[in-house]
Amino acid sequence: MRKQDFSTLGEQTKAVHAGEFPDPVTGASSPNLVMSTTFVVDADTTFSVEGMGENDPFVYTRWANPTIRQLEEKLAVLEDAEAAVAFASGMSAAVALLLHTLKAGDRVVVSDVTYAAVAEATNELFPALGVDVIKVDTSDLDALATTVKHGVKLVYIETPCNPLLRLTDIGAAAKIAHTAGAQLVVDSTFATPIATKPLQLGADFVIHSLTKYIGGHGDALGGILLGRATDLASLRKKTSIRLGGTISPFNAWLILRGLATLPLRMKAHEENALKIARYLETNPKVTRVIYPGLPSHPQHNLARRQMRNFSGMIAFQAERGKETARRLAEKLRIIHYAVSLGHHRSLIFYLDTEELLATSFRLATQKQLDSWKTFAGEGIFRLSVGLEDADDLIADLEQGLM
Ligand SMILES: *Cc1c(COP(=O)(O)O)cnc(C)c1O
Repeated sequence: MRKQDFSTLGEQTKAVHAGEFPDPVTGASSPNLVMSTTFVVDADTTFSVEGMGENDPFVYTRWANPTIRQLEEKLAVLEDAEAAVAFASGMSAAVALLLHTLKAGDRVVVSDVTYAAVAEATNELFPALGVDVIKVDTSDLDALATTVKHGVKLVYIETPCNPLLRLTDIGAAAKIAHTAGAQLVVDSTFATPIATKPLQLGADFVIHSLTKYIGGHGDALGGILLGRATDLASLRKKTSIRLGGTISPFNAWLILRGLATLPLRMKAHEENALKIARYLETNPKVTRVIYPGLPSHPQHNLARRQMRNFSGMIAFQAERGKETARRLAEKLRIIHYAVSLGHHRSLIFYLDTEELLATSFRLATQKQLDSWKTFAGEGIFRLSVGLEDADDLIADLEQGLM
């Protein structure tokens, strides 16, 4: 089946079949893992990527590879995107997009809370290249509208954002960006295409770290950019091939396998997370629980409007955060005390406010600081609820928090 045949099919059918087809030579039903870096070509093949067409025969894996292409096609179908370019990691996708879109003298507006390495790259790397970076709380649409003026090239948001689980209204942000003549990028890693399809809401680009829910098993780094075919063909040619942050075909193959069960896994992550969020709200040691699926989330109405699945990420505050983190790292038996998220295995990590505000996040105004404190207080536990039995996870948290 080809890409254009999928529009009327269900999400789980797309996840299983999109981008895949039986091998025409062997009849193999599962995707081939093609590790070859080079491909035998005819003598008319051009040596420069400048002459490359999107559907030309394979030449070199940094340009295109059959296994990586299958991953790109499957995700493009799930995200309702015209095209996709995969990368070695989520960070390499994000940096490639920024490098492709911005040059010295350009202005970009970035959410003041994003994945930490994106925050750090836009605090240091891009200003050093002469790009004017402005950080704003993008959940505050008035603040966003006053910041995004004519002359801004790109608006970069993350929803729900890591680690606060604070949301940004994608449709409203797209209107603000487009009115000013800017493009909108959405890092949708926490939502996945199962919860939210930012391109349908007006975004120009979507980023995912494939390392998280999409791969889903904690064993392969990857990233992807999705959007319009013309934008991504130019990005592949001008930036991604020259940057060289190519995903290994082996990782692409692992992520393809994980992606086939994404809709089923997201249902299970959400179901477990809701049970655990409700339990945490009853635990006397826990002072605040942030989960988009709970009515107590400050943006629950926006979450209901924008997310078809509340995902599996919970943030919570507890008394004496650092001490509790030490206790949890020692006592938890099932949940791993570790960074990353979106795996079948549950993971928890403590993020200390003072430490993060000194390293990753530069909050310029009292209002930005107040918003951070509303969600994170002095520090926040980021719990990625896995696919274990909810009762076992609750029992583990109960004994760990005692
Ligand atoms: C992990 C993550 C990234 C970076 O992805 P890598 O694959 O680790 O490079 C970007 N954005 C979000 C929201 C993430 O959680």
